[in-house]
Amino acid sequence: MEKFDLVIIGSGPGGAGAAFKARALGLTVCVVEKRDIGGTCLNRGCIPTKTLLHGADLLRETREGERYGVNAGDLRFDFPKLIEWKNTVVSSLRQNQSTALTKAGVTMVQGTARVEGPGKVSVHAAEGGETILEAAAILVASGTTPALLPIPGHDLPGVYTSDAFLEGDGLFPKQLTVIGGGVIAVEFAAAYSSFGSEVTLLVRSSLLSVMDREIGQTLALQLKKRGVVMYTKARPERIEAKDGALALTLTTEGSGEAKSVTVPADAVLMASGRTPDTNLFAPGCTPELTAKGFIKSDDNMMTSIPGIYVAGDISGGVQLAHAATAEGEYAAACIAAAVKGGVKKAAHAQVIPSCVYTTPEIACAGITAAEAAEKGIPAAAGKGVFGANGKAFLENQDRGFIKLVFHAESRALIGAQFFCNRATEIIPWAVQCIGDGTTAEQIERTVFPHPSICETIAAAVSDAVSRGGLKQG
Ligand SMILES: Cc1cc2nc3c(=O)[nH]c(=O)nc-3n(C[C@H](O)[C@H](O)[C@H](O)COP(=O)(O)OP(=O)(O)OC[C@H]3O[C@@H](n4cnc5c(N)ncnc54)[C@H](O)[C@@H]3O)c2cc1C
Repeated sequence: MEKFDLVIIGSGPGGAGAAFKARALGLTVCVVEKRDIGGTCLNRGCIPTKTLLHGADLLRETREGERYGVNAGDLRFDFPKLIEWKNTVVSSLRQNQSTALTKAGVTMVQGTARVEGPGKVSVHAAEGGETILEAAAILVASGTTPALLPIPGHDLPGVYTSDAFLEGDGLFPKQLTVIGGGVIAVEFAAAYSSFGSEVTLLVRSSLLSVMDREIGQTLALQLKKRGVVMYTKARPERIEAKDGALALTLTTEGSGEAKSVTVPADAVLMASGRTPDTNLFAPGCTPELTAKGFIKSDDNMMTSIPGIYVAGDISGGVQLAHAATAEGEYAAACIAAAVKGGVKKAAHAQVIPSCVYTTPEIACAGITAAEAAEKGIPAAAGKGVFGANGKAFLENQDRGFIKLVFHAESRALIGAQFFCNRATEIIPWAVQCIGDGTTAEQIERTVFPHPSICETIAAAVSDAVSRGGLKQG
């Protein structure tokens, strides 16, 4: 029986983040993984989608290159070639991550882990055989798996989750219907409409409904311009097999009155939610779960069972890779303090950015003006538009904006919404400002480079003062 300070179940961003941090804090660490190193993010999530989206952007930009004197003549799109590159990216990063974990001194074990009780994990290898690991602490970072909507026909051939599109040779349907209005659904709609598929998007309420309303509205206009057919306030009723293809019947109230529509499709992608992967506890050993089946934890990421901790998507927080990494690192610091004694060498991350890799990109941090109003927080918001921004204009950026939300009394930045090129690279600025309580004056004193996308931040601050009613400091 091998003994470790910490046994981690899952090698995604949550598990890997915890493993690196725990090693840095001097713990002996073992990571158990039943599939590929890197978890959903590397193998079936962030990395493959962003590779497809990058290919889609390149294709669209080349098609639209005429204004820059770029004429590719008989432009040809070779989907299998893009998939080959996606697979190279994924396998190279997987290898690099495996090397980094081993170099950091983490013991890697391949197999399916089961928590037998505090301090004891069994591992079952695919080829048979059981290993028992002993640990001072156990961290569960087992992630989530895609959910299928239980509508009639959900199990027909041709109905897929994101896994089928992102693993192996992927899929390139001529007619693709995507169910969902969140980040995963819109990224697929954006990529496949650029590839040339006829994309239909079914959205339950509105696009990206957890973000500032104008983001969803603007994105909807852009997707429609790129040929995506969208049904809002739509409920999928059933999927049927018809003449070698699929027919999806939905009810939509998007244009007022409820009506029933049937959409033909070669493939249906269900991108409307993910299910927690908690099937890894021995009988009588499952910690307390939330109503939605995620694992509950206290302020130190410890579950209701002492010595068993949780991090990442499975903890039911924000389902993003960087949130999982931050949570894993924090959990490792809590575990190190519990196992070795001493102070906890990390704090819980306060501001987690949310990003969407459409073109232009979308990135948000903190709260929106509407959320501030709902919570009774006195706020003043400003919006910068890109009409006079040289960089955005020369790049032919589609419509976009930057919104900043300030606390009306302290004048500190409390929220930022970016809908512009490179938004995902600029958002850490807002994350830091919100975390540090940076005020409007401090931002006004910042000199932004010219020409740049981020120059419009200054316009958003001015607008918060002139139109948003932010008092001069
Ligand atoms: C299509 C798609 C696109 C995405 N794009 C982005 C993006 O651009 N940016 C972003 O921030 N987030 C994105 N995400 C979300 C991101 O992938 C997740 O938030 C992140 O992977 C969660 O990390 P995790 O470590 O909690 O879990 P996971 O990455 O899911 O890792 C969990 C690991 O645990 C393993 N495991 C489970 N049970 C056991 C067991 N019993 N024994 C051993 N191993 C086990 C699993 O095999 C898996 O490898 C995307 C997700 C999807 C599906």
